[in-house]
Amino acid sequence: MSLSKIPARPLQLLEHIGRLADEQGVAVYLVGGVVRDLLLKRENLDLDLIVEGDGIAFARLVADRAGAGLAVFERFATARLAFPDSLKMDIATTRREAYAESAVLPTVQAASIEEDLSRRDFTINAIAVQLNLDHFGRVRDPYEGRRDLRARMIRVLHAGSFEDDPTRIFRAIRFEQRFGFRLERTTVGLLAQAASTDLIRGLSGPRLRNEILLLFAEREPVRAIARMGQLKLLRFLHSRLCYTKHVKQVVAAVPKALVWWARRFPDSVIDRPVVYLMALSGESSHAVVGVMIRRLTLSRVQAKNMGFVGRRVDHALKRLTDKRTATPSQVYRLLADFSDEALVLLLAKQMSARHGARLSLLKRHLVAYVNNKSVKTVLTGRDLQAMGLQPGPQYKTILGKLLDARIDGMIKTEAEERALVEKQM
Ligand code: ATP
Ligand code: MG
Repeated sequence: MSLSKIPARPLQLLEHIGRLADEQGVAVYLVGGVVRDLLLKRENLDLDLIVEGDGIAFARLVADRAGAGLAVFERFATARLAFPDSLKMDIATTRREAYAESAVLPTVQAASIEEDLSRRDFTINAIAVQLNLDHFGRVRDPYEGRRDLRARMIRVLHAGSFEDDPTRIFRAIRFEQRFGFRLERTTVGLLAQAASTDLIRGLSGPRLRNEILLLFAEREPVRAIARMGQLKLLRFLHSRLCYTKHVKQVVAAVPKALVWWARRFPDSVIDRPVVYLMALSGESSHAVVGVMIRRLTLSRVQAKNMGFVGRRVDHALKRLTDKRTATPSQVYRLLADFSDEALVLLLAKQMSARHGARLSLLKRHLVAYVNNKSVKTVLTGRDLQAMGLQPGPQYKTILGKLLDARIDGMIKTEAEERALVEKQM
């Protein structure tokens, strides 16, 4: 196989590694996603290598020779290298995995390259390319992954695959949607069968969350979410998750809302997967959302975002698209503690409602609100004290009024602020 599609710098590194492997008398292969993506002509610089022999010792040697940073995970017989030019590489020992129990991380034992490939998820991810110089570019493809790549198919290696590791159910959908491939017939049957059992319930919170959020982090998650609905997988978020027509419409509007937001506010960093999760939970009860947060062991920030779903978003949306136009300071108060993710959700909800006038109004409010976030009063508590006001809770009220007046454009200068304070003394 030609590795010439790899940019010059990593290619040079791979050749160097091939030479080192020859010196050490071990066989080294490039494997998994990067090989698949090379064959698909898609860029991927996540270099995954496997070594028939002691992978960690070999990784230490490579790190040493190339001046790369090294992190070792003994338990998984894996090491991660970080090169000075920000290139990253995983080096592992070829291994077989014994699944003591379904859905639990397997125990690891060293094994041959063939055995290593046989534990992988799909044929298209079970192709290896040797790097030893005499065999540089030689392909190991025992499961005909290349044939499936040409046929645009996702196929498991054996019938027990989804039971061995139910995360593959989500991975299958991820690759199917990302590449626009199809699940091969037997594979769909096995997947549907596995999805109809309670296997996924055996996954730990972090593993389930990881799969869900990875799926939602794809470039176009909307179809993947629809696919999850079709395969009855959404029940693993919560058995009473309300996946209604309206929820589907809001989910479908999220990409457009994200695009609009990114154009308007390029500095805002949005947790996109969480926005999809929020949209998906839009009509579920507070209690259901609470259980989901715990099931997925969401982080504090993610949980806070989920807290906007439902009543808070609906209330804000109603007020912001009301015929009685809200003043800028009212909008500011209404949205003051909303996260950017919650604002994107507001927008997606309104976009899905197909009401042009209200949508324009909402967009104007959002732009004004974000700009107003940087408005500050000139006067501070210290100034109020100097003006003879007794310190106390009224400071907050007065400074709040000053800020509102500034936001509403009623006052513009320090003198006007002082005059407003004096009126309230
Ligand atoms: P991506 O482009 O999303 O990173 P990838 O194929 O590189 O896709 P990774 O999760 O990075 O996926 O895993 C690297 C490789 O490890 C896969 O290509 C596959 O061979 C193997 N692998 C990963 N997860 C599993 C799993 N759950 N079961 C079996 N093999 C797996
Ligand atoms: Mg990868």
